[in-house]
Amino acid sequence: MSIKSKIFILLALLGVLFVAVNVAIQYQCILPGFKTLEQRESEKNLNRAVKAVERDLEHLSLLCYDWSEWDDTYDFVADGNQEYIDSNLVLTTFTHNRLALLYIIDRSGKVIWGKIYDKEIEEFITLPDFPEDQWPADHPLLGHRQPESVLNGYLMTSGGALTLSSRPILPSMGDGPIRGTLIMGRFLCDNCIQMMREQTQVDLNVWSFNCDTLPPNVCLIKDQLTPRQPVLFQENDKVTFGYTFFPDIFGSPAMILQVATQRDIFNKGLQVLKANALGTSIAALATILFLAFLLHSIISKPLTALETTLQYISRSGTLQQVDEKLLTHDEIGMLGMEFNRMIIRLQNDLERRKQAEQALAAKETHLNTLLSTAPDGIVTVNHKGIIESANRAMELISGYGTTELLGRHLLFLIPARYQDAVKQEVNVFIAGSETSLGRQGMEITAMRKDGSELPIHVLACTMDIDQKHKYACFIRDISELKELHDNLLRTRHLAAIGEMGASIAHEIRNPLAGISGAVQVLVENAPADSPDLHVLNEILQMASRMESSVDQMLEFAKDWNPEITRCDLVELIDTIIREARINKDLKNATIYFKGPEASPSWVDPVLFSQVLVNLLHNAAESFDGPGEINCLLERHDRETIITLQDNGAGMTPEVLAKVFKPFFTTKIKGTGLGLSICQKIIEKHGGSITLSSTVGVGTKAVITLPGKKLQIS
Ligand code: ADP
Ligand code: MG
Repeated sequence: MSIKSKIFILLALLGVLFVAVNVAIQYQCILPGFKTLEQRESEKNLNRAVKAVERDLEHLSLLCYDWSEWDDTYDFVADGNQEYIDSNLVLTTFTHNRLALLYIIDRSGKVIWGKIYDKEIEEFITLPDFPEDQWPADHPLLGHRQPESVLNGYLMTSGGALTLSSRPILPSMGDGPIRGTLIMGRFLCDNCIQMMREQTQVDLNVWSFNCDTLPPNVCLIKDQLTPRQPVLFQENDKVTFGYTFFPDIFGSPAMILQVATQRDIFNKGLQVLKANALGTSIAALATILFLAFLLHSIISKPLTALETTLQYISRSGTLQQVDEKLLTHDEIGMLGMEFNRMIIRLQNDLERRKQAEQALAAKETHLNTLLSTAPDGIVTVNHKGIIESANRAMELISGYGTTELLGRHLLFLIPARYQDAVKQEVNVFIAGSETSLGRQGMEITAMRKDGSELPIHVLACTMDIDQKHKYACFIRDISELKELHDNLLRTRHLAAIGEMGASIAHEIRNPLAGISGAVQVLVENAPADSPDLHVLNEILQMASRMESSVDQMLEFAKDWNPEITRCDLVELIDTIIREARINKDLKNATIYFKGPEASPSWVDPVLFSQVLVNLLHNAAESFDGPGEINCLLERHDRETIITLQDNGAGMTPEVLAKVFKPFFTTKIKGTGLGLSICQKIIEKHGGSITLSSTVGVGTKAVITLPGKKLQIS
């Protein structure tokens, strides 16, 4: 949940709590106050009603007192004079004084005068409660023994509730003996009650205690009533009833007084509380909204800006600053500013890093280019001799791809027979001792993927990478160099041999010619049956062979300058083979030739013929009987290859290794110069000649001639 939501929820909770506490306090503390006020109002109204009833009784009592201490009344009890009746006991006395009952009774209980007037029917009536002529002498209303005796009260009669006042009849001075009792009464009729209502402005009602038609709520509280003690009863939320009752003159419950008080105070109070609660709620809501707005502006807005920026950075990976307009001048604002400063520093760092990476990448590219274009093979190996990297030149030298080289021991590139020696050298180097491997490098024979061997020059150096010893080996293919070197040596050797041969041949040639000539003379002069003739012929043959050897030696010593011309090699070979077929020295050989229609090539026809004849002779000389020589010419894009395959005796590897050395021969009559001359001629053409042979199977000579004309310098 976001801070914004949390703040809103917290503020809302606070608002609800505030309103709830406020309302609770008002309802618990203020509302009871209104209730108390309302109760007091009810009690006051009830008292007012009671007072009104009592005032009426008091009024009646005063009237009764006035009449009872009037001498005329005193006299009337004694004589019952008509005059008194006519002037005082008339209807107006009743109506003016709202009297319903007036009785004048003497001490024996005899009614001197007594009438009951019903105002509603405007007639005098009789009630069984009040006898018309004789009352019991001990009637409570008649029991006045003292002049100041008075009996006021209420009495329930069959005609309704009566307010009664009874006083002893005395002379005006109050000193005579009590002559009788004056009883006055008023019905608490509807009019009286209405009058009291108007006087008191209180909504009051009076019922007889034992009335059968009491309202249900009055019936309910009837038993709880005690004299003068009000009982309040909330009828509903509009009216509160107050009840009390009046005992009759005998002390029994007589009348129930009910006062209805409108619950205006309580309802007004309730309205005030409701308005207050509403007002508080609105104020709380406004405060919450204001606080929320403030908190949003002060906290949430800058925090959201920070959060949005952070989310953007984490999603896009792009560094971005927080919009400073959204930051406030407080701790959060400071946080945002610090964040922005950090972003600027990071951006600068990133820029520097990018530049460094670019420089590094450029250096790496440079280094890689250097490594891949380096003519020497470069491999790095760990302390165990395992290859960890290799460059392009190493692939070319070894014939292995980089992936094939990686993870393998460096020694796998060395032929098994040299491995022990190399391993020993490598161990000494790794041990840190000075070796030729680390000083000037050493020449080793390596083995390519195709199994062929080549001489390499290896120079090693130690590198410390990540606190680990590693070794870099710089490997150079020196096969060409070696070949050049060998060729140079051979050429020098041949030149020396040639020079020596030429001088020897020169020295021998003339004496040999003299010997041959002399012997020839001897042969010619000798008789046909001379036994010396055979010996002389032998000498001649020997001399001839020596001449031929001397010729070859001179041939070998010659520094040819081939006259290379454009000629059809197929035609040339065809001619040579045709001549060879009729040569008696090659009669045991069957020669086949296979080639294209024509093969225009750049060769010296005379010298090339010499090469081919030499090879044909060597093949024929290897036959132990008849044999076959297959000659094949193949044209390729850049070269022409002539192969001569015989099925003669073949050669051992040891012989094969020496065949191109001058004067090496295995034949009794051989000179050992044939193949040396062949090689010299072919090399003068810019080509090469190789021999392969298997004992008992035969020998194959392969001549490779360049396709283009050789520029002889
Ligand atoms: P020569 O023939 O005079 O011995 P070469 O230089 O022609 O001298 O040959 C050198 C040697 O090479 C020969 O003595 C022979 O042992 C060997 N040789 C050359 N060609 C063949 C061949 N076709 N078959 C077997 N051996 C050969
Ligand atoms: Mg030969």
